[in-house]
Amino acid sequence: MALMTGAQYIESLRKLNTRVYMFGKKIDNWVDDPIIRPSINCVAMTYDLAQDPQYEDLMTATSSLTGEKINRFTHLHQSTQDLIKKVKMQRLLGQKTGSCFQRCVGMDAFNAVYSTTYEIDEKYGTSYQKNFIDFLKMVQEKDLVVDGAMTDPKGDRGLAPHAQPDADMYMHIVERRPDGIVVRGAKAHQTGSINSHWHIIMPTISMKEADKDYAVSFACPTDAEGLYMVYGRQSCDTRKMEEHAGFDVGNPKFGGQEALVVFDNVFIPNEYIFMAGEYEFAGMMVERFAGYHRQSYGGCKVGVGDVVIGAAALAAEYNGCEKASHIKDKLIEMTHLNETLYSCGIACSAEGHQTKAGNYQIDLLLANVCKQNITRFPYEIVRLAEDIAGGLMVTMPSNVDFDSDLPVGKEGETIGEICNKFFKTKEDVPTRNRMKVLRLLENLCLGAAAVGYRTESMHGAGSPQAQRIMIQRQGNIQGKKQLAKDITGIED
Ligand code: SF4
Ligand code: FE
Repeated sequence: MALMTGAQYIESLRKLNTRVYMFGKKIDNWVDDPIIRPSINCVAMTYDLAQDPQYEDLMTATSSLTGEKINRFTHLHQSTQDLIKKVKMQRLLGQKTGSCFQRCVGMDAFNAVYSTTYEIDEKYGTSYQKNFIDFLKMVQEKDLVVDGAMTDPKGDRGLAPHAQPDADMYMHIVERRPDGIVVRGAKAHQTGSINSHWHIIMPTISMKEADKDYAVSFACPTDAEGLYMVYGRQSCDTRKMEEHAGFDVGNPKFGGQEALVVFDNVFIPNEYIFMAGEYEFAGMMVERFAGYHRQSYGGCKVGVGDVVIGAAALAAEYNGCEKASHIKDKLIEMTHLNETLYSCGIACSAEGHQTKAGNYQIDLLLANVCKQNITRFPYEIVRLAEDIAGGLMVTMPSNVDFDSDLPVGKEGETIGEICNKFFKTKEDVPTRNRMKVLRLLENLCLGAAAVGYRTESMHGAGSPQAQRIMIQRQGNIQGKKQLAKDITGIED
């Protein structure tokens, strides 16, 4: 089958029986729901850009499994060049959507599960990798979206999975049958889960023998029996439901999406199982997936950062202060920070290596440094953007006021005319354009898209401490001590 278009992707979602709950209600037509639809539009861009000849090299690849042309989001990376192209593709999509476009979690899961299942099979003679390859061939051929789901609710963080008073705090096997397993639990804050065709479930932490039943990885259709989702709300989300929200929405077309995904005794046939009890490989799968996703942030957040910088520069221009030296300097600083993040994404890709299974893995130390910087720099970029934007970003009247024809002035001026008069800047700048760009900044800095640009920069792909643990492990302090000893002639 040929690659899908964005429109075909959206239509394909309508055929699923995905169970979605939001604001205490079941949402039957979630595809057209005004709160959910922007996140679907974002994923649709991963299809539409793949159809555009100018982006073909970044957005598509040749399948290592079938030799067919596939969307890069379903690709197993075959070289460091592939890893670099992945980051460039993510920057492009961040630029085009100003949001989280969600499809990366599946791509990162494919690559982590492919290499980990190879090593499990090598040790145990299992056939998990064959299961996975058959599954991925189907995904590539049908050009599907798959949610890579890792994060369990985790309950009491001081207790191992098996020691939790409520066993459901970690995904686990409740029954083993000749034809498959039954699983129970949940995955929290799952990016793009509702608009995925399938899910790949992975364990969330390293595990010991007592956690055997929690070391589980598998694929399952998003509308499987027993699976449902509770939509995560975002700051200012109900603006999308307002009839005349107009520019108040900030980013009129695109947005991100997270949900709680619940598995209420879901049956998984043997052919979709990629790990079922091999607890000593749980950590490998986590580390590899997290490494890829930390690399991903060196692309997607940089692309969104480009939009933040552009919006701040436009706001300055509309205000008539773009030539002020401090404005220029702030834009330089924002660019410097953003390109530093990109450098980390490119560096961990260029320093990648081949796994035993044959696909390419990023450099773990550099990917963790990349993500650690991402827990900081977007906050500084946002601070500078707010500085340039000015307070109007959060004090301006609504779109409805700007459009209002209610007379309020002594000479019959309407609220709309008054708003347009007092928020006018340069003669050639329509006031509405100024408002649009300020609302976009509000959206990116503290509105719905701030989920993707700020808090997700902190906690997505693992909170800062998770990267610090990896940096400590990978940092080779012993080797560095030896360097100092060698230079000074210290002998033990
Ligand atoms: Fe992709 Fe970035 Fe969203 Fe993760 S946070 S799914 S890498 S866009
Ligand atoms: Fe994310």
